[in-house]
Amino acid sequence: LLQRKIHSTRLEINLDAVVHNLMFYKAQLQPSTKVMVMVKALGYGSGKHELAHTLQYHLVDYLGVAFADEGVELRENGIRTPIMVLTPSPDSFETMRRFQLEPEIYNLEMLEALEDFLEEDENETPFAIQINIDTGMHRLGFTVAELPILLEKLGKIASKVKVTGVFTHLAGADEEQHNNYTLNQVQEFDKVAASIEDFLGYKVIKHCLNSAGIVRFPEHQMDMVRLGIGLHGIEVNRIKQDDLQTVATLKSVIAQIKTIKKGETIGYGRKGVASKDMKIATIGIGYADGFNRHFSNGVGKMIINGKIAPVIGNVCMDMTMVDITDINAIVGDDVVIFGEDLSITQLAKAIDTIPYEILTSVSSRVKRVYY
Ligand code: PLP
Repeated sequence: LLQRKIHSTRLEINLDAVVHNLMFYKAQLQPSTKVMVMVKALGYGSGKHELAHTLQYHLVDYLGVAFADEGVELRENGIRTPIMVLTPSPDSFETMRRFQLEPEIYNLEMLEALEDFLEEDENETPFAIQINIDTGMHRLGFTVAELPILLEKLGKIASKVKVTGVFTHLAGADEEQHNNYTLNQVQEFDKVAASIEDFLGYKVIKHCLNSAGIVRFPEHQMDMVRLGIGLHGIEVNRIKQDDLQTVATLKSVIAQIKTIKKGETIGYGRKGVASKDMKIATIGIGYADGFNRHFSNGVGKMIINGKIAPVIGNVCMDMTMVDITDINAIVGDDVVIFGEDLSITQLAKAIDTIPYEILTSVSSRVKRVYY
């Protein structure tokens, strides 16, 4: 037993599958269409550095992060691919300039802060920025009505900035019921982006599609698309699962096996009750690893030696108990929490959330292993 590594919870990441999925999405696009891959939130949980290096090697055009710090870490790790920062703070303009990160400018306050920054800035090369237009997501972005003031302010700093891109974000690209809304967003964006381009007098990269958008509205791919969840092989509408490969597999191991009598209770709050004489296994993963507490009491399940083991009792911080009455297993055996045979989408459905949350919740103490 001393040789056995128990409590070893790890997220195994298949980088070949990442490349396969990237190529799948590229195949939906014109060869000239650029691809930005979102590597924010630790690369959707799978490790931004490893993903970024793989993507850089495969000549992805842009990477997207949420915060300047994420971009700085990528630069310090040898990433030279252009990087857009989605939610920059004005006090990081200096840093973004230094590390060649392109801030998303999304409202007048940001633009004014940029103007102030550029007044002091003595750098000769124009500062590359991207502009977000809100066409219906109503999260960040200039409204269509703000276009005149946006242009006026851009005019004042025209010699000091280079607007590399103008984009919008679709609010419901993955659902057919929102098709009209989506197409309206695209049309509005098209007009605004064209006005900005006319005003600037040079070409900008126009982009609006996320993963679902690439599959459902390839005719609106424009100059670039922004790929996120699809890279991880999570199916979005209209993609057959076979077309994509599973990237992340979350695994743990059996730490202990117990037999318990009918009527005995399992775990905190005594919420798990043995409906018969049972064999239960304690697995070294809990909610602090990202195995949501909503998976308690039969909502969640795991795979052990090819068989389904339902969760019994409440998920604990570092451990979870499962029913293995009908499974041949010993301490140290591997347990699959999600992967090829138990998809992230299934887990998300079980607790009424989205795959994004399952993936990005795998906490930092879970070791990432690449193959
Ligand atoms: N573009 C923006 C602005 C985003 O915020 C995101 C993700 O949240 C994406 C693109 C990628 O979306 P998806 O993961 O659905 O492909």
